[in-house]
Amino acid sequence: MSTTTLIREKFSLYIGGKFVPGSSGKSFTTSSPYTGEVWADVAEGTVADIDSAVANARAALTGPWGEMTGTGRSALLRKLGDVIAENAERLATLEVNDSGKLFHEMIGQTRALPQWYYYYAGLADKIEGRQIPTDKPNFLVYTKREPVGVVGAITPWNSPLLLLTFKLAPALAAGCTFVVKPSEHAPASTAFLAELLDQAGFPPGVFNVVTGESRELGQALAAHPGVDKVAFTGSTATGALVAQAAGKNINKVTLELGGKSPQVVFEDADLEAAANGLLAGVFAATGQSCMAGSRLIVHESIHDKLVDLVVAKANDIKLGDPTSEETQMGPVANGPQYRKVMDYIQKARDEGGVIACGGHTPEDLGGFFIRPTVITGVNRNSTVVKEEIFGPVLSVYTFTDETEAIELANDTEYGLAGAVWTKDVHRAHRVAGAIKAGTIWINAYRVLGPQVPFGGFGASGIGRENGIDAINDYTETKSVWVELTGGTRDPFKLG
Ligand code: NAD
Repeated sequence: MSTTTLIREKFSLYIGGKFVPGSSGKSFTTSSPYTGEVWADVAEGTVADIDSAVANARAALTGPWGEMTGTGRSALLRKLGDVIAENAERLATLEVNDSGKLFHEMIGQTRALPQWYYYYAGLADKIEGRQIPTDKPNFLVYTKREPVGVVGAITPWNSPLLLLTFKLAPALAAGCTFVVKPSEHAPASTAFLAELLDQAGFPPGVFNVVTGESRELGQALAAHPGVDKVAFTGSTATGALVAQAAGKNINKVTLELGGKSPQVVFEDADLEAAANGLLAGVFAATGQSCMAGSRLIVHESIHDKLVDLVVAKANDIKLGDPTSEETQMGPVANGPQYRKVMDYIQKARDEGGVIACGGHTPEDLGGFFIRPTVITGVNRNSTVVKEEIFGPVLSVYTFTDETEAIELANDTEYGLAGAVWTKDVHRAHRVAGAIKAGTIWINAYRVLGPQVPFGGFGASGIGRENGIDAINDYTETKSVWVELTGGTRDPFKLG
């Protein structure tokens, strides 16, 4: 454990363009999963603060923001991208302190964030309607895309700013206003982002942050009658509750949920590249990633060779201080998550799985560290194959032919991502087409970009974030019929 003492910081709510303590007057603490040290006090918001944030967001839909053109929003989004780039180190440090993730991973993410704001700045003045020809020559018909209104966003702890950005950048481009309730386990970077939107010059009420430890806050935001669209990233169980709450208000909802993504490795694959892809898929970010490639489905003829390669690489992974450049894997982000992962490893043992490597907490580090774990001897019915673990655990099982590989890959309620490893170009595209998931990588894993839609099939979610498609979720289409003759019409005749 490090003995470094972090400077104790303070974060407030941001409502209607003001940094406020919150109506409870209380705060909660957040601690570093690496040192265990409390490093920040964060304002404890209440349901009344959610109400106030939503009211401010609604008010901001009119006034300077509502009157702004796409060109104006584009300029603000560019400015925000610039300000984020200037503060990338600070943002990354806050995320490392909160989640224990590696500094070099988080700095990579925070340096990439501006690309999302620049990309959506490019779209803000291109949200176009259509002129639609109809069978009624006396009418001109056109559509307009209007902002959906107030967006309520609820985000998880694993990559707080990246997953918030997937929502915020298209919402702002579309002209929406925004209330975010970040995870109670990693609220700091979102609270600080408010300072950057303030600095970039967004009018008061366009962006609001309500932090708090109570799950009531997320519930209140999802169910709020003043919210027009709910954007959620988190677990499938919570996502179902959020969808029910939003459904009661007949609200739009997008859900980015869990996954149990397959990596299918054929006998002709470049095994060195595949082994690296497997490490990237499940040990990067300590496996705490919705798109973790946690199921290795490997051709039986190369099972032993590939497992040996992955185990050798996994055993070389350096665990330690998340702020050190040398470290490749940090701790699991919090106590409940650590216990959940260790329980799954025990369950695998109980069900006859073989721990090929890892499966324990290294004595010299203790805390929430878990050695990268590879489990063999499991099958499609094993608990660790069926359930999302959200930790550094790879479960390995075999197939005999392509049909079986596809069947095993699709034998899951989830459908977020997956990979195919083969040198056969025909098979690569065939299998990519057959796997039911929102993102498939061929001979790669864990690559994302603002231009490319991301989201899941089945229990992995509803809707897509990123890309031009995301703008659709933050706009409503209005059809306008214009009578061209200036005459009167038979009131009892349709059309
Ligand atoms: P979680 O579902 O426990 O919490 C997510 C957020 O929802 C938090 O802000 C939480 O406070 C809030 N919340 C809790 N109960 C709520 C309720 N009843 N109504 C409304 N909001 C509520 O998830 P987590 O533990 O923070 O994150 C881990 C999960 O997120 C994993 O399952 C992972 O797969 C998933 N995830 C998905 C993606 C994706 O893009 N698909 C990305 C990251 C994480």
